[in-house]
Amino acid sequence: MRFIEVAVFCPVDTAFTYMWPEQLGDFPAPGCRVLVPFGRRTVMGLTLGPKAEVPCEQASKVRPVESLLDRAPLWDEASWQTWRWMAEYYHHPVGDALATTLPPALAKGETPACPTETLVDHSGEARYKPSPEAVVSTPSQKKVLKLLQGKREGLTRLELIEKSQSPRVVDMLIRTQVLVAQRRVCREVELNPDQAKAALAIRHSLGAFAVHLLDGVTGSGKTEVYMEAIAAVIAAGCQVLYLVPEIGLTPQTCARLEQQFEVCVMHSKLSEKDRMLAWSLAQGGKASVVVGTRSALFTPMPNLGLIIVDEEHDHSFKQESHLRYHARDVAIYLARKRSVPIVLGSATPSAESLRNALAGRYHHLKLPRRASGCELPTLEIIDAKSLPFPDGLSQPAINAIAATLAVGQQAMVYLPRRGFSHSIFCKACGWASECQNCSARMVYHRSVNKLMCHHCNDSSIIPRCCPNCADQLTPLGAGTERAEAALVDRFGRDRVLRLDTDVMTTPKALLEAFTRIRSGEPLVIVGTQMLSKGHDFPSVTLVVVTGTDSALFSCDARAAERFIQQVTQVAGRSGRSKPGRVFIQTSQAEHPLLQQLIKDGYHKTLFDLIVRYEEGLMPPVSAHALMTIETTGQFEGRSMLESVIDRINHPALLGPFPALMERKAGAHRYQAVVMATNRRERHMLLSRVKQEWRSMKSRYALIIDVDPCQFS
Ligand code: ADP
Ligand code: ZN
Ligand code: ZN
Repeated sequence: MRFIEVAVFCPVDTAFTYMWPEQLGDFPAPGCRVLVPFGRRTVMGLTLGPKAEVPCEQASKVRPVESLLDRAPLWDEASWQTWRWMAEYYHHPVGDALATTLPPALAKGETPACPTETLVDHSGEARYKPSPEAVVSTPSQKKVLKLLQGKREGLTRLELIEKSQSPRVVDMLIRTQVLVAQRRVCREVELNPDQAKAALAIRHSLGAFAVHLLDGVTGSGKTEVYMEAIAAVIAAGCQVLYLVPEIGLTPQTCARLEQQFEVCVMHSKLSEKDRMLAWSLAQGGKASVVVGTRSALFTPMPNLGLIIVDEEHDHSFKQESHLRYHARDVAIYLARKRSVPIVLGSATPSAESLRNALAGRYHHLKLPRRASGCELPTLEIIDAKSLPFPDGLSQPAINAIAATLAVGQQAMVYLPRRGFSHSIFCKACGWASECQNCSARMVYHRSVNKLMCHHCNDSSIIPRCCPNCADQLTPLGAGTERAEAALVDRFGRDRVLRLDTDVMTTPKALLEAFTRIRSGEPLVIVGTQMLSKGHDFPSVTLVVVTGTDSALFSCDARAAERFIQQVTQVAGRSGRSKPGRVFIQTSQAEHPLLQQLIKDGYHKTLFDLIVRYEEGLMPPVSAHALMTIETTGQFEGRSMLESVIDRINHPALLGPFPALMERKAGAHRYQAVVMATNRRERHMLLSRVKQEWRSMKSRYALIIDVDPCQFS
């Protein structure tokens, strides 16, 4: 009898042993899906490998595998080893970790089909024309084709849908390749010497593992460097994995890629059908470039030749629930295992990457100038300490916006808070709109006329007067909704556009907003973090940063780094093709971090932060992990963590302490940290913590976050 180890898709720490029944055929290789009995259910799992010994007395109790879903492993050996490493490194239950690597349809047991179809363009910018062999039968199909008669450039998907009013027919024609996207072979731009040097360095490194940090200021033309490298990889018959923080925010990049290469887009908002199709296209080698958000990392690519991680500093590469992995870090491991180069690109590299580049572990490729030749804007301060700005914008900021609109240009207001006001409160007795489930205030959203908690999504109606003393209530602080209202009052509805997740709920809305901004009409755009990510808006000549002061006082050790990244990124939206200005409105004009950023720029400021991390033995110099436990009882978590820490009694294991958000969604939260000098020590300590935790047989899960990005 032969036994097999299976990572069952459930949050239990260990793998399980099953019997391999002969009628299922040959013993499967690691990385195939199987269905196995688990308790009274049948569940999915991935095969890990043969189990050598099972004690005789237990052998008879081992249950057999029910069925095998894949004849061959889903990934190549090196990728599979990377996922196994990932589960270990992040100390996550192996079955649950491996389940993360599969798109939902595959995790449910569907078989990836051999694709005869193609993907519908998602950037909305590809232009379609009928393929030479196109044959159509139905009148509605004929109608769509007729629209294209005489259109030499073709039409975009949205244009076709608008004109034909039949979205399903259009998408079906694209899928079945009756309509095909037009590729432009010619290059639009000549690389400048810095770009050419960077592209050459990447090309020379193909075929072996290497990490490049493409450290290029905002607007320096990093995308063109990627394109050049991608073309070389594809010419050699290989595939490229291209990770971006958010797909909806990079339509221009997708469009640029789709014009030149066979691209498939992979992210969690795709329909299950499209995700399966993309998976199959990549696995079959039919897609040359896979562009996607962090989970695209797990797409099987048999001929992988290059990995690109754009905006590598961005925190959306870190998953903040379940398996808390960092896609950039796993991608680096994957590149090493698969012997391919990886390019990390950013205008504001993370401390991790810059430190590695300075130490010579990464190739440091620099693009110090903007491709347009425009100077980078300098940062100027609006000292708002003694100025009133109830709506988030002071008079000098409004004046600057007015002047920008008056000359027909665009302004951007970066305000990283959604909603109308941070809370509502009573001036008479101090009552404030607290969430009853969380240690947080409820945010006032005027458009839906509700108080909402951004942590547990609870909402409530707005009290007419103070529930305590019946006095009048006042909104406190300003979010994007309030700034928008003030700007509309001042400049009129037609001049103001808001960009945050409350209004940009569909890809179409976002695309329309981008099109409007790029049309260049005079406009003031107010928005959250959405504004700070990789867009190229040529007509923006003014950026106002506001509402960022709280970041200067955070207890999170790496908040300073995030602050300078965000300010530099948004500032970089200004003056891309005409000279621009950037104002930071703050009540903390003298804050040393802000002063240094203005005086020395991003790199020098980050460098000094790295020196501080080194002196204080903070991450990324040391190896940290955060453990959180969420309980119903107020002090349960504290006493459980206390006993684990006492039993292990190691100087690098500290706690317990209440979490920054002591209560969240009704649970009480306590934390402990491992502050180890190196990864090996951290790994050892976490293993011991888990062992102790198991022996306590607690009904609560211990949430482990390795290399935490945020403490909350
Ligand atoms: P980044 O990603 O580094 O911020 P982008 O790749 O978005 O910069 O490029 C910024 C702008 O510069 C784009 O409009 C791009 O078309 C243009 N550009 C890039 N490279 C060149 C070049 N060599 N010559 C002229 N324009 C360029
Ligand atoms: Zn009151
Ligand atoms: Zn809440």
